[in-house]
Amino acid sequence: MLRLAIQKSGRLSEDSLTLIRECGINFISSSYKLKTEATNFPLEILFLRDDDIPGYVQDGVADLGIVGQNVLVEAGLPQLEVEALGFSKCRLSLAVPRADAYASIAALQGKNIATSYPNILGRYLAENGVQSNLHTISGSVEIAPSIGLAEAICDIVSSGSTLLGNGLREVETVFRSEAVLIAQPNLTAEQTELLEQLQFRMQAVRRAKRSKYIVLNAPVTALEEVRRLLPGIKSPTVTPLAEAGWVSVQSVVQEDEFWHITSQLKAVGAEGILVLPIEKMIA
Ligand code: ATP
Ligand code: ZN
Repeated sequence: MLRLAIQKSGRLSEDSLTLIRECGINFISSSYKLKTEATNFPLEILFLRDDDIPGYVQDGVADLGIVGQNVLVEAGLPQLEVEALGFSKCRLSLAVPRADAYASIAALQGKNIATSYPNILGRYLAENGVQSNLHTISGSVEIAPSIGLAEAICDIVSSGSTLLGNGLREVETVFRSEAVLIAQPNLTAEQTELLEQLQFRMQAVRRAKRSKYIVLNAPVTALEEVRRLLPGIKSPTVTPLAEAGWVSVQSVVQEDEFWHITSQLKAVGAEGILVLPIEKMIA
């Protein structure tokens, strides 16, 4: 049995639950319950505040957790990470009032900076040879300059619109974060095996998300070109069409090269290009 701690309600919650479901693990979740048990995998899910998750996993109260690297590193427990999960990507940035002059990080020497991440920020400033006064506050950090609490802030940014709305400008990226799977240091042999099964499924889900299944028709004369563009996993599947001189080609493409490849496929004469999602992909 493994106990997995995830965020009860917040930005990580939905993607964490979706990932567990996509791994084929079924459970009944209700918003008021603190824990639930999976029906088809030896897994218990605990719903906690994200800040508490690294500590609980370190102490073995939970065996696994899903948490942002920002929270994990701030808690001083980066060694618990076993797998990056690719969602909840954000960055921790320094920002100053838009009107203030800012040439380099030296501008923050001796200034007051409000943040919820004193450890990560403290290390970053030290590495850059800057000494500032850090004020640790747990929420609404972005209003600190306008109420006179600080001359700068360090907080999580994803789009930057919150900063803009508070008259702030992002000046330095301090830390980049995404959600990670963490594990306690003393898993039993049986638990280690379950963790490996879980990681195998998570990797299959992520690989599938990055890939698309592509089906197209092409003239036989263009087949060499099409094969070069679509190497697929091993090599593409090619089947003859009823119409002489034409074949149907099936393969896998990576999402990030998809547009680039389809335009080249069209250029060599491919037609009727279909692109389909892949649910799971086992290497
Ligand atoms: P809790 O009540 O559990 O303490 P919280 O308010 O501290 O929640 P959330 O705002 O739900 O935390 O954010 C949880 C995590 O999601 C953050 O620690 C960070 O890793 C990530 N995150 C935060 N903001 C964003 C964003 N704008 N885009 C993507 N990921 C984000
Ligand atoms: Zn939190």
